[in-house]
Amino acid sequence: MSDFGTFFLPGPTEVRREVLEAMLQPMLPHRGAVFEQLFARVEGGLRPIFRTQRPVYVSSSSATGLMEAAIRCARPGAILCLVNGAFSERFANIAQACGREATVVGGEWSGPVPLDEVESALRTRKYSALTVVHSETSTGVLSDIHALARLAHAYDCAILVDSVTGLAGVPVETDAWGLDFVLTGSQKALAMPPGLAFGVASERFIAEARSAESRGLYFDLVEFEQYIGKHQTPNTPALSLLYAAAVQVEHINREGLEQRWARHEAMAEHTWSWVHELRRLVGAPFGVYAPDAARSHTVTAVTVPPGLSPDAVVKAVAERGYVIGGGYGRLKGSTFRIGHMGDHTVGGVDAVLEVVAESVAALLR
Ligand SMILES: *Cc1c(COP(=O)(O)O)cnc(C)c1O
Repeated sequence: MSDFGTFFLPGPTEVRREVLEAMLQPMLPHRGAVFEQLFARVEGGLRPIFRTQRPVYVSSSSATGLMEAAIRCARPGAILCLVNGAFSERFANIAQACGREATVVGGEWSGPVPLDEVESALRTRKYSALTVVHSETSTGVLSDIHALARLAHAYDCAILVDSVTGLAGVPVETDAWGLDFVLTGSQKALAMPPGLAFGVASERFIAEARSAESRGLYFDLVEFEQYIGKHQTPNTPALSLLYAAAVQVEHINREGLEQRWARHEAMAEHTWSWVHELRRLVGAPFGVYAPDAARSHTVTAVTVPPGLSPDAVVKAVAERGYVIGGGYGRLKGSTFRIGHMGDHTVGGVDAVLEVVAESVAALLR
């Protein structure tokens, strides 16, 4: 695949030609049998990817839409927001913007929010739900959502998980871990074009959602749940994106989810050992921002030595025909990011890393 393997942004990620071409199919009525078959292919194919028996909601929005849905549909009560990066901060901001009483716990970006801090917050007062970002795309930090689910449930608190750069790249066991709501976007580890978001709610979450007063309309998950029975969406779906999703979901299931996780782990490990190699090679303190024990397999934020601008690295890499990401939020000036997720391969990752090394060496010369 010579036309694939140059675009390593941590979202959107590179989309295979077959998936892009699927979008050239003609429009069809979204209240009709042909659409219902298409929808069933996408929705049914996503269940094994979410590791769930529950229906998968398909939202014609970016992932932020389903973050808002999670908040709006959580049962009444205060929300505990675990913040350890830019996207988890966004989750807390959404809770506030939707008029919910939100308490922030954490605040450090350098690792997951410690479980004991979460527990003392849960012990202090009653929360109806907590929000967590599984894989913080701004830092490359991975949180242990399984442990957090156990902890939350011990305090009768629902767990709402943004796994936008987690799902399909690192293990997520929606049903086995008892996750109350998990959401992702089409354009990250699923390697589809941007514009769709997918989410799964536990039976209990959706039953309790009926008591949430301000669910709004577009992101009312109770409506999504009702339409799923008919293999339909509440309003006109992004049909072209569904064509793309149908092709990609089948591709992912053909690869096998566990193989996909293993490939992501291998891509991540190549990236981390390359960072060590780079230190040695150019004699400058490059590093992996996320701590050893809590690294996401889909994205790495690489810290640069003082005096080197991450933007200059991104630019030098672009001049050589490859795309990587700059730093995000408060890490903008001190890191660049490599998205090693989606349909990339270990060989493809090695190729971009070689180009980054070359660019860095040229800049430091
Ligand atoms: C990209 C991203 C989002 C936001 O997704 P949009 O599709 O831009 O709304 C949210 N959370 C995480 C962790 C992300 O990486």
